[in-house]
Amino acid sequence: MKLNVNLDILKKYSRPGPRYTSYPTAPHFTPEFGPEDFERAIRESNHTAENGDISLYFHFPFCPQLCYYCGCNVIISRNETRINRYLEYLKKEIQLLRRLIHPDRKVTQMHWGGGTPNYLQPQQIRTIFQAIRDAFPFTEDAEISVEIDPRTLTPEHLPLFRELGFNRLSFGVQDFEHQVQVTINRLQPEDMTRRVVEESRALGFPSINVDLIYGLPYQTEETFQRTIDKIIDISPDRLAVFNYAHVPWLKKHQRVIPEEALPTPEVKLRLFKMTIEQLTEAGYVFIGMDHFARPDDELSIAQKTRTLYRNFQGYSPRAGAEVFALGITSISQLQRIYAQNVKDTRRYEQLLDAGKIPTHVGIALTDDDVLRRHVINELMCNNRLQKPAVEARFRIQFDQYFADALEALKPLQADGLVELDSDEIRVTEQGRFVVRNIAMAFDWYLKQESSTKAIYSKTI
Ligand code: SF4
Repeated sequence: MKLNVNLDILKKYSRPGPRYTSYPTAPHFTPEFGPEDFERAIRESNHTAENGDISLYFHFPFCPQLCYYCGCNVIISRNETRINRYLEYLKKEIQLLRRLIHPDRKVTQMHWGGGTPNYLQPQQIRTIFQAIRDAFPFTEDAEISVEIDPRTLTPEHLPLFRELGFNRLSFGVQDFEHQVQVTINRLQPEDMTRRVVEESRALGFPSINVDLIYGLPYQTEETFQRTIDKIIDISPDRLAVFNYAHVPWLKKHQRVIPEEALPTPEVKLRLFKMTIEQLTEAGYVFIGMDHFARPDDELSIAQKTRTLYRNFQGYSPRAGAEVFALGITSISQLQRIYAQNVKDTRRYEQLLDAGKIPTHVGIALTDDDVLRRHVINELMCNNRLQKPAVEARFRIQFDQYFADALEALKPLQADGLVELDSDEIRVTEQGRFVVRNIAMAFDWYLKQESSTKAIYSKTI
């Protein structure tokens, strides 16, 4: 599929903006929302949640060494005692939440992220997994996924994850080129990636995802095309191709990356355009703003049926489930609140020792937040929004309520990025490259900010 896009138009829209894994976005969470607020919200949600389903996220922050592009909340440590201590406190948090969440609520989805979850020793994985299974009931068909760094896998890890019931693996790859790997401090030979994917298939894991990043230093169209060709040959079920967020003012270690080696916004656009063309040509469906999946994958089906949802783990087909996140820095998302855990392990321990949920900041959503979140979700997941449906659900007159947003979209309409009808807003093929900019028109908080540079990465 050759995409008909005008790069000169698109590059005008390279400006700082949120990724909208939440709305309101994390910089608007405040310390006024504390552990007691989150506890109250959980108790309420036991009665008001759409279907009672829950999704669990566990944050394992440890990695043995730092990748220079890293944007995660990570602790570089090889100290076993420290890791064991973290796991002991994670178990305390599990017990605390278990007492608050109604015992009939079932887990339909669980994700382990990090950091590097497979940096844990097999025995540590077994123990923490058992603690989770003892605390929460799971549905038969629960999706259980884990992020894997192939460089820290031992021969025991994959068989153990399979035995425990994990059914989705997500492998970090980023780029196969040696020069790129050296510059980002992540040496991962191609045959290592091929070997672990083959082994995962042989073990019967039903779904394999691979993460790539475009916009890394020394990437060119030629080099990234080679990476994409190799990935197509490896043939994962899903791919996430993320836009590198270069924010050295927030992530100090990114200063090691030579800025002159970073692709320009125009080259980044070319890389992404080529990625979409190559992957769709190979049979993948382009989902949302950075995901690709086989046509029979749950994500593709959810996009077709317009039930796709976006949260802190990316795109999800399980829109109804409330997310309870455990471990430092992790973010829970219930219907009307977000709550983020503390970032510091010492504070995490103190709060748990005091019998408190380790909430650091959060926000209770207003009716306006819920409405805008819905609008942004529709645009980012389904590429279109039907005004009558929004009007019926939220009892508003769309054009009146969002008069300023519709005005702000006019330049994007003139540039062919969005189509504005009386009943519908549609993101065009070209507009999908700047869907964050389209969503920004509906963001009330952005209008209150004098500068977005210090908080967000560039949209392109
Ligand atoms: S493996 Fe992932 S979490 Fe760990 S340093 Fe690298 S990018 Fe960051």
